[in-house]
Amino acid sequence: MNVLAKRSWTRGSIDKNKGLVEHLQQYGVIKSKKVAEVMETIDRGLFVPNGTAAYVDSPMPIGYNATISAPHMHATCLELLKEHLQPGMHALDVGSGALLAHSHCSFHLSPSLLMKIQAWDVETDVEHGFMWFRELDQFALEPDELDQNQWKANMLRSFFADASFDMVGSFLCFPSRLLASSGILAGTGYLTACFAVMVGPQGHAVGVEHIPEIVASSIENIKKSAAADLWERGSLSVHLTDGRLGWPELAPYDAIHVGAAAPDLPQPLIQQLKPGGRMVIPVGKIFQELKVVDKKLDGSISVYTETAVRYVPLTSRTAQLQGD
Ligand code: SAH
Repeated sequence: MNVLAKRSWTRGSIDKNKGLVEHLQQYGVIKSKKVAEVMETIDRGLFVPNGTAAYVDSPMPIGYNATISAPHMHATCLELLKEHLQPGMHALDVGSGALLAHSHCSFHLSPSLLMKIQAWDVETDVEHGFMWFRELDQFALEPDELDQNQWKANMLRSFFADASFDMVGSFLCFPSRLLASSGILAGTGYLTACFAVMVGPQGHAVGVEHIPEIVASSIENIKKSAAADLWERGSLSVHLTDGRLGWPELAPYDAIHVGAAAPDLPQPLIQQLKPGGRMVIPVGKIFQELKVVDKKLDGSISVYTETAVRYVPLTSRTAQLQGD
């Protein structure tokens, strides 16, 4: 089955990156010049592993229940945070790396594969899901991993449940253990780089991530990007740490972005938010909502829900590597 026949992207192309930005503008996801500019400046192609689609996004409306850090999710978060990413400000990106399967792996579905997936009984037939993954040509899973992966299969299935024929989507939910075992681990640092460009050399953009390999590859990606000089100057940094604790050294932050779903609002992150600052954070387990947390000047907090989302969990390193 030729599910990848319609691949229409190439890596490292500025034009393609511009095309993606235009696409997101057309669909109303990018609303401001500021966000368009930064997404044009930071070439997404530098932040994805070889062979994955950097410049494609789903034309489905945002808020469909499988949004993760696909391009439109990045754009949404940048739009929500843009007033808090002014030159000279401090920004924190928690969970700054990405699992390959999470945000940067887009694909086209053939109608027949989609029908099979929608009819798939995950309870009795986990293995099939992984066959389809292999057909999608994105993953090299070991057969002995299969029985440990029921929950991921479930997420895959629920992701596909509302898929439409021409959809280009994004996967999540593969712990880095699997990626590491298949040799396709990739970190990003994409949003951290965008933040760094927005806050500029007088500001600080800090990424925190708890998987060492992801920190390392994020840094490599950043060094190849338009944010490289900010890295050299030290106004952009990525640290290996438990992001639930934030990064107190450069607090308080005008903007905090959390790229993984927390069970509830992490107090250390709220504490590290500056009065007048804003945090964007997915909260929940199976059902997750993207919360926008504003800290008022008097220190009180207001929270609203932007949209339904699905992210990988903000959890301990051990739990993540075990796929819990
Ligand atoms: N911000 C990325 C998304 C990353 S996926 C992007 O926009 O593409 C979520 C990331 O959160 C993963 O890299 C995962 O390793 C990380 N993560 C999960 N729990 C964490 C924790 N407690 N501390 C730091 N990073 C965490």
